[in-house]
Amino acid sequence: MEEDKFALVEKIIKDVHKVLSKIAELYAFDVVPVDINFQNKSPVLHLENCLGLESWCIKHVYMYCYSELMDKYSIKSKRKTRKISTIDSDRLIMLLNVTLLLNPEINSLWNRRRELVLGLLLDKTVELHFTRLVLSRKPKCNEAFAYRRWLLESIFEGEGYIRNGIEHLMNEEFVVCDLASDKSPNNYHSWNHRIWLLNKLRIVSTNYDLNALYVKEYHASEKWISKHVSDFSCFHYNQFCIKNLYNICNDSWKSLEKTLNIDLRKTLVRVLASNFPKDVTIQASEADLVGYSDENLINLLAYSNKVCNCNVDYVQMCRRIEILFHALILNNELIKFYKYHETLWYHRRFILHEIITIMYDHFGLKRDNGVLIKKNCKICNVDEIRQKQPKIGRYDSNRIFSSVLFNVIISHERNIIEESRKDGDHYADRHEKYLKFVKGFNNVM
Ligand SMILES: [Zn+2]
Repeated sequence: MEEDKFALVEKIIKDVHKVLSKIAELYAFDVVPVDINFQNKSPVLHLENCLGLESWCIKHVYMYCYSELMDKYSIKSKRKTRKISTIDSDRLIMLLNVTLLLNPEINSLWNRRRELVLGLLLDKTVELHFTRLVLSRKPKCNEAFAYRRWLLESIFEGEGYIRNGIEHLMNEEFVVCDLASDKSPNNYHSWNHRIWLLNKLRIVSTNYDLNALYVKEYHASEKWISKHVSDFSCFHYNQFCIKNLYNICNDSWKSLEKTLNIDLRKTLVRVLASNFPKDVTIQASEADLVGYSDENLINLLAYSNKVCNCNVDYVQMCRRIEILFHALILNNELIKFYKYHETLWYHRRFILHEIITIMYDHFGLKRDNGVLIKKNCKICNVDEIRQKQPKIGRYDSNRIFSSVLFNVIISHERNIIEESRKDGDHYADRHEKYLKFVKGFNNVM
């Protein structure tokens, strides 16, 4: 009886191995719930490029493979691993495949695969296919993502990617991330993997059009957050994408507006015009503001402020403010439509924090322990002696708080807080407290 069982398990291992030989075509693996083996046929299913295993056999197969791995391949032993012969390695790979497909959260098994890759007994591209298969069933498996990153690192190091084409490699990663994020909400690991990928690309690539990629990724993440308003992991990715847009080139900025199908300057100007402080007479209308140069617009919003000898990059500053206000408007809409979502309010904090930081930079200030202090320019190091007294006086903080941009933000935030309060959204109160006591606006709000 036991003999029969072992023979059956051996057959299952071999059947899985046979299907895995066409791994490039496979895109999903799963366990199919079938309680009893009443038809007496193989539980290994291969249908439309998917691999399946009937659930009745899982326990036996897993225990069988795992025990053999532990006994014969001494995975847990701390001893220096002995040299693996080719016959040994074939068997080892078969066992690892089955065990990891069923339970991919064992890091020591992934380490075993790393050794096999280094010993040229496993192919890196095939390994990428294998992890994709693992992730199709366990999209939150950190070990599989970590192994993928390890493979990619070594592909980049070996410059093998030049041969295979970096575009192809990247697209494949994005597809894997998309599938994993789709399958599992709040998938920190897949969004984190995406961030890693973009950062890696920045270091590795010399001729990859990163700006175009930033635009594409921003657009995709914007669509994603609009559909998944509670998924903080993708909001975090969206924040990463916003920051990537800060320094993109002119052409990419145009293509961003085209992709979003929006005039970012007009959006900004509209918010400004409808939130101008009432007590100050600002002559400019919305239509006038559209015609302002970048420099004039910044001077209107935050005075012509020169804190050091560096040139102010008005174009870049305007763009940063534009993209952040665009994000703020989108956030308004989401808060109004999908009420009571904490994630949306946290995202709002990020946007406001970024705008306020731009302001403080412009005024040569930073907040430290709740107090505004002068900051030395690291680039031109303008007279450090003069700035010995760190705390800035009342006059200075009044100057920043009375600037137009600041007033616009306060008025705009007051409106959304009031509206959301009427809707019974208690996060509005928390948001107000955040602005007053964390951001230090209690005197101006
Ligand atoms: Zn400077």
